[in-house]
Amino acid sequence: MRFCVVGAGFSGAVLARVLADAGHSIVVVDERAHVAGNCHSERDARTGVMTHVYGPHIFHTSDERVWSFIQRFGTMRPYLHQVRAITGGAVYSLPVNLLTINQFFRTTMGPDDARAFIAAKAEAMAEPANFEEQALSMIGTELYEAFFRGYTRKQWGLEPTELPASILKRLPLRFNYDDRYFAHKYQAIPADGYTRIVDAMLQAPGIEVRLKTAHETLDEPFAHVFYTGPIDRYFDFTHGRLGYRTLDFEVFRKSGDYQGAAVINYCDENVPFTRITEHKHFAPWDSQEIDGTICYREFSRACGPNDIPYYPIRQAREERMLDTYVQRARATAGVSFLGRLGSYRYLDMDVTIGEALDAAQHVLACLSEGRAIPAFFVEPLQQAPAATARAA
Ligand code: FAD
Ligand code: UDP
Repeated sequence: MRFCVVGAGFSGAVLARVLADAGHSIVVVDERAHVAGNCHSERDARTGVMTHVYGPHIFHTSDERVWSFIQRFGTMRPYLHQVRAITGGAVYSLPVNLLTINQFFRTTMGPDDARAFIAAKAEAMAEPANFEEQALSMIGTELYEAFFRGYTRKQWGLEPTELPASILKRLPLRFNYDDRYFAHKYQAIPADGYTRIVDAMLQAPGIEVRLKTAHETLDEPFAHVFYTGPIDRYFDFTHGRLGYRTLDFEVFRKSGDYQGAAVINYCDENVPFTRITEHKHFAPWDSQEIDGTICYREFSRACGPNDIPYYPIRQAREERMLDTYVQRARATAGVSFLGRLGSYRYLDMDVTIGEALDAAQHVLACLSEGRAIPAFFVEPLQQAPAATARAA
């Protein structure tokens, strides 16, 4: 059958590839000039550094199926992500671990003493109802105010009391010197960038890719449309715009090594940006030969109509609006929604790929059994498991 996939990010590319491998023909459209969606990476023309154009992307998963799938399309090089955080004029390591605790409190505790020390600072709470309560019940006031309060207000433009506890649950608290940002079994970055991987995924008989093509400009029949763009956009924002945060990147180039690490967070609220990313550190395998360096100073703000939507803000207003769009979608024949924009959820890449693989199997089963293809393959009204799975 002939299908249309809107969006050439991981969601669209994975789905298109599995359907093509099963013998179907697929037109993949993306309004951007490149594939890979927000994971797009390209070499900076001036420095030669492989740059994560829409912000830093580190691949991490414990899902064997996802890990073997992505490796079919390119070489993944091991990369261990470590994050530094500047607060109150000093540099620490994140997520909060024994080094952070000992440096911050100027102590030399071992794991058991540190655990008891933090437990004494933490506020006992049966069920933390929001980000702030989660933080206070996990690490107490001093660490919360130094590392999380200001950064979170900058990042989300909301009071931490207005945010769900699940956002903080992405980060672990460790009473040892393990400072890996992610704890997944496989952590890697594509040797030649994400875009090469997605390009390879889309190289298959049966797949036609049309870039710089918005779905709205298409005028041809398809057996079904798989839409990985924003669900509110599909319905012309008739019920309002779902809220997102967008990011502005202030790009600067230097020679040598600017900050000595891939990512440094700036937690103080009086510093207007949230973090600086130095892209060459994501590819230590080729940065030795590269002298120049490119950095992104990252600012977060409310997403306007012409901005790129990055982080969904799932406040009560959005939940209600999403519910209306979900009902519209369920009542609309011939289209399914998936991916981070289609289901309005924060999704890491591995979860995105896993959900697209599941969706493709679901579609193939529907086709072989003569059932209708559903509007969704996951329940969009429930936040993604990824929101809490990172610390696993
Ligand atoms: P997208 O990548 O957004 O792709 C959707 C595509 O659809 C876009 O290319 C868009 O142009 C196109 N499109 C939309 N509407 C239309 C239309 N009407 N017509 C034509 N084209 C359209 N994940 C990790 O695992 N590790 C990380 O370190 C990590 N870092 C991140 C950092 C940031 C700042 C952000 C915002 C996300 C990060 N992620 C990370 C998550 C990752 O970006 C997503 O998992 C992934 O991009 C989701 O892929 P997708 O295909 O669903 O969406
Ligand atoms: N966070 C923070 N300070 C930091 C890092 C993270 O306050 O230095 C908070 C922030 O609210 C962020 C959340 O913890 O959204 C989860 O962190 P993660 O690294 O998953 O952030 P994201 O993927 O949202 O950038």
